[in-house]
Amino acid sequence: MRDETALGRTAKEYMDRGDLVPDEVIVGVIAERIDSAEALDGFILDGFPRTIPQAEALDAKLTEMGRAVTAVLLVDVSDDEVVRRLGGRRTCEENGHVFHVEFNPSQREGVCDIDGSALIVRDDDKPEVIRNRLEQYHAKTEPLVDYYDQRSVLRQIDGVAAPDEVAEEIRRTLATMRLEQDEAV
Ligand SMILES: [Zn+2]
Repeated sequence: MRDETALGRTAKEYMDRGDLVPDEVIVGVIAERIDSAEALDGFILDGFPRTIPQAEALDAKLTEMGRAVTAVLLVDVSDDEVVRRLGGRRTCEENGHVFHVEFNPSQREGVCDIDGSALIVRDDDKPEVIRNRLEQYHAKTEPLVDYYDQRSVLRQIDGVAAPDEVAEEIRRTLATMRLEQDEAV
């Protein structure tokens, strides 16, 4: 959209009307980017696809382009842990500084350490909103686990470990898959 390509303008029209952007348009936007020089050696999609139809549209487009999804990482965390992590977030009203009641508490409850303004629970972090998003995930996104497992590209990462351990496991997993795929060629 920033580069004002034809597809970008189409996507913006949907969004300006408050409508969901159709899968084919999203995939078209992604394809434009994948077709650029910076993505020659590879690309990472974060948070896409989220549904089976999106995955099918993406696969069809990539096949057309002579490319493929070579790895899918599932960073696995239980629902309870997701609620614990997101539900404990407290955000400073003035400047958006983020704290966590359990992992990174402010000195004074409900008050930002940095600027003294009030800490609030953002709508996104309210338990009922988190639970609703988890329901959407299980209904629409979780079927992708089987979809990609059948294509032998799925790897599960334990998302409950410390962030640097999760990052290290992701790095090791991708490096191993790259070696296996190079050998297969
Ligand atoms: Zn603050």
